[in-house]
This record gives sequence, C-alpha cells and structure tokens, in this order.
Amino acid sequence: MRIDIDQDVCIGAGQCALTAPDVFVQDDDGYSTLLPGAEDGRSPLLREAARACPVSAISVSETVG
Ligand code: SF4
Repeated sequence: MRIDIDQDVCIGAGQCALTAPDVFVQDDDGYSTLLPGAEDGRSPLLREAARACPVSAISVSETVG
C-alpha cells in the first residue's frame, strides 16, 4: 500500500486526521502528514480518510509485493 499526500493541494482542513488519527497528523502549519509507522496503510480508516478529504489530496494505491 502506498499513501501519498499532495501537499500542494492540501488545504489543511484536517478531515483526514479527524477520520483516521492513527494514520494522519497535522503538522505545525496545519498540513497533513503521515504518522511514522502508518505508511503500510493497514489502518481500516485509511480509505475513509482519503474519501473525507475535501480536495482529494490523499491518494491510496496498491503496491505489488
Ligand atoms: S483532509 Fe485533505 S486537505 Fe484536509 S488536512 Fe487532510 S489531506 Fe489536507
């Protein structure tokens, strides 16, 4: 699983951190970043958080292997 946050698109709405607080956290500037260890995308809340983002800044893609 690969998680990308487009920081150019993110408006700091915080929906991702609210929806999946075990994956996303807002940095000091209010933009979303991944929590260390969350990169494997194992959280069941991940896709929901990607959907919750109002500007679709989060992309989740399957990686092979
Ligand atoms: S929900 Fe989207 S716009 Fe809001 S902080 Fe997360 S990535 Fe950024």
